[in-house]
Amino acid sequence: MNRRRDNGQMGYKVSYEQADKIFEKLSETYEIWAPKRFKGKGRYSQTDLIRYDRVCRAEDIEYREKSDMPAKEVLSPITQSLFYFTEDEYIESKATSKKLLIFMRPCDIHAQHHQERIYLGNGGFEDLYYKRMNEKVKIVMMECTEGWDTCFCVSMGTNKADGYAAAVRFGDGELLFDVEDQDLAPYFEKMEENGFKPDYIEENEISLTVPEIPDKDVLTKLKSHPMWQEYNGRCISCGACTVACSTCTCFTTTDIIYNENSNVGERKRTTASCQVEGFDQMAGGMAFRHTAGDRMRYKVLHKFHDYKARFKDYHMCVGCGRCIDRCPEFISIVATVNKMAKAIDEITGTES
Ligand code: SF4
Ligand code: SF4
Repeated sequence: MNRRRDNGQMGYKVSYEQADKIFEKLSETYEIWAPKRFKGKGRYSQTDLIRYDRVCRAEDIEYREKSDMPAKEVLSPITQSLFYFTEDEYIESKATSKKLLIFMRPCDIHAQHHQERIYLGNGGFEDLYYKRMNEKVKIVMMECTEGWDTCFCVSMGTNKADGYAAAVRFGDGELLFDVEDQDLAPYFEKMEENGFKPDYIEENEISLTVPEIPDKDVLTKLKSHPMWQEYNGRCISCGACTVACSTCTCFTTTDIIYNENSNVGERKRTTASCQVEGFDQMAGGMAFRHTAGDRMRYKVLHKFHDYKARFKDYHMCVGCGRCIDRCPEFISIVATVNKMAKAIDEITGTES
């Protein structure tokens, strides 16, 4: 039976062996990136790390657990060389010559939207290092129907995604693909046709309602509310939450000098964190946020108010829960937003 859908896109069922052959063929044109398990590399003894890396086989992809690090690390790695300089010229670092096929969950697809917004659509400035990678990307959405105990994607409206090149469901002995992009269709020729369309999670274990901040007066009072002081004692300003965050984009740059000639070297950029002391320090030693509580307030308001106020569409947080997973002090952003909601009720006199 031909299960071709009206729009010409197709669903397929393939064995892992067939998938490996498809991956092999795809690898001639694409770098394939996906979450991969690194045994014994986790932060605690005898734990694993799941992070993005290049994969050659479908079995290399870790789909049973949420990755510790988000898909953003493919396009904006924790550290990267931007350019190399000599006395009187500079040479741009090379990007991959292949296209990129990145496996990611729906929340990470939404996070990609925010990354694009910041790197490519912020005040008319385009980050060429991000752009040259982003132009090469096709997304394979990993079906996600159960989530984990720190996910709250349903609350943030990021549990469903469209616009992917293909979607995949991993099964024990087979994979189901929904192939939407015509460039990918030839790789699936002669595979068993199937009407597969991905399902999505409809309810998480935790949820939140992002509170509305009605006006500037309430916002000003919220900024000085005592609720933030709790984090002076709890948050150790390590920055782990922002490094693992699907949507954080801040970075710092460093010039690495190769030898005694300070005009020869390379410029690198490295992920930075608004949670780390000194992040906001300016020339002359001036700083704006002096305590961990100040920094927490900044992060939470950025994710759940400021970004949306500026760009007028969505909140920045996609509810991936990675900041909760990574925090060594067990600080939950969901609990923090719920406390913020209570503080707003208190300020506006709408407490129940
Ligand atoms: S703030 Fe936390 S839950 Fe939200 S996108 Fe970042 S890591 Fe994910
Ligand atoms: S991971 Fe936790 S302790 Fe570290 S900066 Fe973030 S909130 Fe603070």
